[in-house]
This record gives sequence, structure tokens and C-alpha cells, in this order.
Amino acid sequence: MREIAKENLNYPSMIDSAVIEQLETIVGSEHVSTSDDVIIENSQDALKEVHRADAVVFPRTAEEVSAIMKLANERLFYVTARGGGVGYTGGAVPLRGGIVLATRRFNRILEINKADMVVVTEPGVTNYAVQQAVEAEGLFYPPDPASWKDSFIGGNIAENAGGPRCAKYGATKQFVLGLDFVTPTGDIIRAGARTTKNATGYNLAALMVGSEGMLGIMTRCILRLLPLPEARQTSLAVFETAEAACKCVATFADAGIMPAALELLDRASINAIEDFEPSGLPRSAGALLIIEVDGLRETVAREAGIVRDVCARSGAIEFRAANDDREAAAIWEVRRKLSPAVKRTGKKKINEDIVVPRSRIPEILAFIEEMGRKYGFLIPTFGHAGDGNLHVNVMLQRDDEHERHEGHLAVREIFERAVELGGLISGEHGIGYAKAPFLDIALTPPTIELMKTIKRAMDPNGILNPGKMFV
Ligand SMILES: Cc1cc2nc3c(=O)[nH]c(=O)nc-3n(C[C@H](O)[C@H](O)[C@H](O)COP(=O)(O)OP(=O)(O)OC[C@H]3O[C@@H](n4cnc5c(N)ncnc54)[C@H](O)[C@@H]3O)c2cc1C
Repeated sequence: MREIAKENLNYPSMIDSAVIEQLETIVGSEHVSTSDDVIIENSQDALKEVHRADAVVFPRTAEEVSAIMKLANERLFYVTARGGGVGYTGGAVPLRGGIVLATRRFNRILEINKADMVVVTEPGVTNYAVQQAVEAEGLFYPPDPASWKDSFIGGNIAENAGGPRCAKYGATKQFVLGLDFVTPTGDIIRAGARTTKNATGYNLAALMVGSEGMLGIMTRCILRLLPLPEARQTSLAVFETAEAACKCVATFADAGIMPAALELLDRASINAIEDFEPSGLPRSAGALLIIEVDGLRETVAREAGIVRDVCARSGAIEFRAANDDREAAAIWEVRRKLSPAVKRTGKKKINEDIVVPRSRIPEILAFIEEMGRKYGFLIPTFGHAGDGNLHVNVMLQRDDEHERHEGHLAVREIFERAVELGGLISGEHGIGYAKAPFLDIALTPPTIELMKTIKRAMDPNGILNPGKMFV
């Protein structure tokens, strides 16, 4: 077997043929790959930056993962866990080589239990497959990242993923009851249980949520479920200004309702859609909201009326309410077009996902516009107004060194302002290596140091997912 060349490694090159053979003994030779295609495919995520792994390993059991981690500590090579590989911050990218531990063979939903209102699943199942499976039983798993068809539950937990419905129901962390995970040194841990209450020791399952593949590798997940809402009603409201749309968002609480989804698109986003595939949206509008209410049929009918009233009182200049599933899908289609539409407005998109308290959305939107003017960038901004999580897209037209530098400065200023307003630099995409240079804007030095202490305690040899989160 060939010796694999390594560059830029802190550890000496240890993935030699002997290590590959040991990995093959653990998982079977057909589940270890050093082929170029497999390595390239598994050495990048949605950032589309390739940092080559030396090998890709596809274990099937917690015991195999444990043996791999023990071997990695003995022979000192890096391990990076991979889910669906559609993260936006480079979390699954093997920055310093070593092996990628791909979780796609952990692909079974183990149990859906209506009495306990839980689904027990392996981490390599897509969010979509879990949603479909539980809905077939009349149950509901709310976290709904737009990447649901590609992203895995393990990746969702590691990034604390969210989506439109998190406005009402909360993000992934609100649904994780228990986890089995393998520590970086190879111990198999069982944290939490299938109970909604748990006051038994430290909440280690919660520690794993948002840990970005740095503290352990999940192998089994117990997720809380809700009854499937009987009905849904979707509306679209157009406003002359972003301020009016934001005021409308704040008014729902006064009216006594919490929509399941409250999505906001600013003017640049509306125009990006109209340029991409015209949807009859007024180009001069300042912003639009997509609002969805769900629940029992009678409640939804009542809440839909409240939505209409609130939008009218908040000065909506246009209001469309879906009369059936087809019309609702057409409204959501507007939201789904956003990603490709915005992409077309420049050569490269710097995609950030700041979060601010809901009440501060108008201020951050005004600031983003100001940054667009200051640096000369188009910055379409859209996202989850219901929970203050906004996707800020700084569009580079040439993607040369000067523009990338200016883009970085604009992003830094936007992050600083978000934090000044009481927010954070990421609401759902995580830090990875893409946002590591900005972490100190959001967290104090003792806070970062405590995180590093936890990492060192759990991973004394720095084996798991090196180069992420901390610079
Ligand atoms: C078009 C598009 C739309 C998106 N929309 C959303 C959205 O609406 N909301 C949102 O939150 N995100 C969104 N994302 C970002 C991304 O999909 C999420 O971060 C998602 O949770 C990543 O899941 P994944 O399985 O692809 O993880 P990966 O990218 O494979 O990995 C992400 C991190 O999880 C770790 N990891 C993966 N599996 C495990 C495991 N079993 N144990 C421990 N660590 C593990 C990896 O090491 C890595 O650090 C979007 C991305 C794209 C490309």
C-alpha cells in the first residue's frame, strides 16, 4: 500500500500503510478509501474549499468509532467527522489532513415511539428522512434547515441547526434529549435519556449540541417530538419599508400569537428573485414577510385572521393568503428561490448568519445597508425575523484580493454591530474555520478560555477536528 504524503501537519506523518491496515481491520477494507475521488468528495463542504484528507473511513458502529479514536490517539493522526457535508463554515473539512470519519453508514431510524414522543435515530439519517418518517406516524420534528434533504441529523446537532419553524418551536437544541457519543479518546458515552426531564448530572447531551464535531462523535440520537399540527396557513405580506415589516413582526406578540414561521426578505433579496425568476413581487418594496401559523384547524383559522389584521394595521401594501397547499407551496417557493437568486447577483457570496434580539432587527438592517454603501457591495439580507437570525450575503463582483479584503472588513463591522445590539455572530451555521477569526468579537477571553479548557480536557492530544472555532 502506498505511503501518503502530508503537508502542513502539526503531527508527523503517521498515516502510513500500517495505519491504513489497522483501520481496515477495524471497519473492513471495503470501508476505507484512499481513492482520489472519494477523498476530494469528502474533503470539502458547502464552502467549496478542499483540504485533502489522507483517507476516508466509513464505520458502522460505536465500537468501530471507539477503536478508530483509540488508534488515532496511539498513532497520533487527526480525525474529522462528516455528516452530509453541507455545512457553511468548513466544520467537516479536514483542515490538517488525517482521516475523515464519514457517518453515512449510520443511516437507520431505530425507533419512533408515540407514547414517549421520541424518535431514536442514528446520526447519518437526513433531517428530511426523519421528518417524513415521524410525520407518517402523526408526529412532528420541527427543526427544518433549508438543507434538510442533504444534511444529517448528526450534522444538525453538531451545528445546532435551525430553520423557519424555529421561530415558534426553537432550534435543534430544544429537541435533543439523549445522545450516545464516542469521546476523542475513544470512550463510549451514553448521555441523557428518552425523558423530557433530566436532572441527573451534567447535561452532556446539551454540551454536544453545537460542539461542531470537536468534542465527540455522535452515534445514536434521541430526539423529542410533538404532535403533528392539524393545519397550517401561509401568507405573504409586502411592506413599503423594512421598518414597517419589522414593526409588524413585533406586533404579533401583542396580538397574542406566535407564528410558526416569520421570514423576512429585504429589498435587495426581492429584486434578486425578480431578476432570477419573476414572481410578481413589487421591486420598490422595502421588505416582505412570509408568515405561517399552525395548530388545530379552528385555531389556525382564527390566527390567520389575526395575521391579516396585524399586517393591515402595520401598513402592508400587499397581502396574499394561501387558500390551499398549492398556493402555500407557491409562497414558500419565493423563499426557496432566494439562495440561487442571490448567488446570481455576484461572483462570490460571503454568507453570514448573524443573530440579534428581535427588537433590534431594524437597527441591524439599517446598519447593513450603510455597510453596503460604505464598501460598495450589494448585501441582500433575508432570514428568520421571528428569531432575529438574518442571512447577510456580501456579494463580491470580482472576487479579487482587494474585494475579499473589503468584504472581510464589512463582515467584521456587521459582526461588531450585531454584538453591540446584544446579538451573536452565528445563529445556526456555526463557527468552523470560516468564522474562527471573528469569535473574539462575540465571546469574552475567559469564555473562550473555558471552551478551550473543555476541549483540552476531552481531547488532550487535539485529535478531533483540529483548526476549528479557535484561531
Ligand atoms: C443550501 C444550504 C442551505 C442551508 N440552510 C440552512 C438552514 O436553513 N439552517 C441551518 O441551520 N443551516 C443551514 N445550512 C447549513 C448546514 O446545512 C447545516 O449546518 C447542517 O446542520 C450541516 O449538516 P451536515 O450533515 O451537512 O454536517 P457537515 O457539514 O457534514 O458537518 C458539520 C459539522 O458537524 C460535525 N458532525 C457531523 N456529523 C457528526 C457526528 N455524527 N458527530 C459529531 N460531529 C458531527 C462535523 O464534524 C462538522 O463539524 C445550509 C446549507 C446549505 C448548503
